[in-house]
Amino acid sequence: MSPITLSILLGLTAAAANGFGGAVIVQKNWERSYLRYFVALGSGFMLATALLEMLPESMQLAPKRAPLLILAGYFLVHLFEHTVSPHFHFGEETHPEEFVAAHKGYSVLLGLAIHTFFDGIAIASGFLVSPWLGWVIFLAVFLHKIPEGFTAASVMLASGRSRRVAWAASAFLGAATLAGVLTMAALRHSVADGLPVSAGVTLYVAASDLIPEVNKEPGIGMAVMVFVGVGTLFVLHHFFG
Ligand SMILES: [Zn+2]
Ligand SMILES: [Zn+2]
Repeated sequence: MSPITLSILLGLTAAAANGFGGAVIVQKNWERSYLRYFVALGSGFMLATALLEMLPESMQLAPKRAPLLILAGYFLVHLFEHTVSPHFHFGEETHPEEFVAAHKGYSVLLGLAIHTFFDGIAIASGFLVSPWLGWVIFLAVFLHKIPEGFTAASVMLASGRSRRVAWAASAFLGAATLAGVLTMAALRHSVADGLPVSAGVTLYVAASDLIPEVNKEPGIGMAVMVFVGVGTLFVLHHFFG
């Protein structure tokens, strides 16, 4: 299978996980406490993937430009999730008073869509470099996709939207992911730029969006799960890397 075909299939899988995450919150009685395990495991796995796999490959592809592109990717997410959006954090939205102006929900969705677009860029860039890099990035993306869809749908509900619109918001994130895969497929000769920018995005999502959520949890269980995520990458690297 060509790297592009595989990227598209896995992009669709990641997109479906966004939609599933949205459905978890739209369906009132669905169990959701397990989502925090995905956040904790995903944060460790993503951070290790960004630093140990995406950064070194980026430095090989573009030794001069990569550091600046990584920084640009990092602050791109900061700009759209936390500067353009008035209020954003991963997980269930529990501050409806922040969303009295209903349009604020859409600015959060825009920020998340920019980030998920680069989830797609990351998957396709990985497969353009090697099957190993593609699979490990896909796994890093997949692990936070369900909480991501959950977050988008819960922001929409907090800003007074219907359940149908809330689920559509999570599906929209899935579409943005797929758009990222297709964009990178079209611009495959620019993988030396796509990989470092998406490495910066991955670094931000892991260290600045997900780990702060883990740190809000009482007890050490969730904190330990972060190390399990890091360890999982080492094990996979040993056998497949
Ligand atoms: Zn909030
Ligand atoms: Zn994401």
